[in-house]
Amino acid sequence: MAVTESAPMAPTTAYAGILRRQSMRESAARTYARSLPIVPVRARGLTIEGADGRRYLDCLSGAGTLALGHNHPAVLEAIKKVIDSGAPLHVLDLATPVKDAFITELFETLPRHFADQARVQFCGPAGTDAVEAALKLVRTATGRSGILTFTGAYHGMTAGALAVSGGAPDVRVTRLPYPQDYRSPFGVGGERGVDLAARWTESLLDDPKGGVLPPAGMILEPVQGEGGVIPGPDSWMRRMREITAARSIPLIADEVQTGVGRTGAFWAVEHSGIVPDVMVLSKAIGGSLPLAVIVYRSELDVWDPGAHAGTFRGNQLAMAAGAATLAYVRENRLAERAATLGARIIGRLQGLAADHPSIGDVRGRGLMIGLEIVDREAGDPTATEPPPADAARATAVQRECLARGLIVELGGRHSSVVRLLPPLTLTDEQAEAVLDRLADALSAAERVRNHPHETRPQP
Ligand code: PMP
Repeated sequence: MAVTESAPMAPTTAYAGILRRQSMRESAARTYARSLPIVPVRARGLTIEGADGRRYLDCLSGAGTLALGHNHPAVLEAIKKVIDSGAPLHVLDLATPVKDAFITELFETLPRHFADQARVQFCGPAGTDAVEAALKLVRTATGRSGILTFTGAYHGMTAGALAVSGGAPDVRVTRLPYPQDYRSPFGVGGERGVDLAARWTESLLDDPKGGVLPPAGMILEPVQGEGGVIPGPDSWMRRMREITAARSIPLIADEVQTGVGRTGAFWAVEHSGIVPDVMVLSKAIGGSLPLAVIVYRSELDVWDPGAHAGTFRGNQLAMAAGAATLAYVRENRLAERAATLGARIIGRLQGLAADHPSIGDVRGRGLMIGLEIVDREAGDPTATEPPPADAARATAVQRECLARGLIVELGGRHSSVVRLLPPLTLTDEQAEAVLDRLADALSAAERVRNHPHETRPQP
């Protein structure tokens, strides 16, 4: 793919004015806009074209939203069809043919014995709205108020979702250890780590003096995304299912980021074969547009009419774009493709780690991939613990990627994990281009650290 080479961006052009006005007028809470100072004007598939005339390979994909990449023809066609039909674009939660088709397609993709007796609730437009709805649903259904969640979790930015995310203390929330191999809370990973995490969960729940509020539900991500791309082992997922089922605690799977083929299965819960009680879905299900739902076991459907309302729950364009996306991923077996290609990319990155001491760990599932950047010089070479996370160098890698026309995300507890979330339509050639640029960026970030006075392109 032809990409304009990494000329430093000239600060005098019109887009520089747009960026300047953005920094003057938009909130200090700006997120991606800070680390990715680009002005997208056109996009197709993996590629974004900036107002500076440069093209970027987008491995951020709207924070994992764009299963089919930007402006996929199937998505655009579905949107145009609704517009050309004269159908109303705003319908609150009324029934429409577009919504009916979306629900049919969604249920078609869900695990059979879950979908067979499930209900769907359309929530406000974002993932965080669906998380709020899920928490409210299980609290209403059980009459209990406690929630079990995990260290490093991310479920959104509204009050309830924040409370169950790592780093936002709340008295009604009990935090349990999420197992991980690289920085295991128990100093041991693998099946032993899973067993210890499960035992801790059980003992806390069963200890009359454990200090746990009676739980209305447990919420987990099958792969922690924002927490640093940490796949929950299948055996641990099964243990969590057994533990919650045995204690009549509804299990909520937050598949906002992992859903729609991203991890190599259509839904990430399929890897372990567990059937949750509630699934929280957003991002890719709207085919680039805002859409969020919860799907849940019908016995939990005890709330009163109007108990969970909202004006923007009927986004017809998002439902059409989402149905087209779900159908495309299903018909073209893109989950399988994500599994194969993801495994190959992870293998290549593990190979790169031999030449790049800044790579501490490579991990992921399907096309949800992370590279943890570490500071080996600061670590104790005799220690069994991994070296400290290196957020500054991860930022440098991200910047060097951008200078080479590659957009990557940063995440993880210490913002030290370089994240790749490419579209599931990524071709082999595109994957090579991404890997080449990433390898170059890693070398550049390592050189800058070793020779801090060396000049580098300013993105
Ligand atoms: N849950 C998970 C697992 C997520 O990754 C995110 C967003 N990154 C959310 C919930 C919140 O979604 P939104 O940003 O649309 O509110």
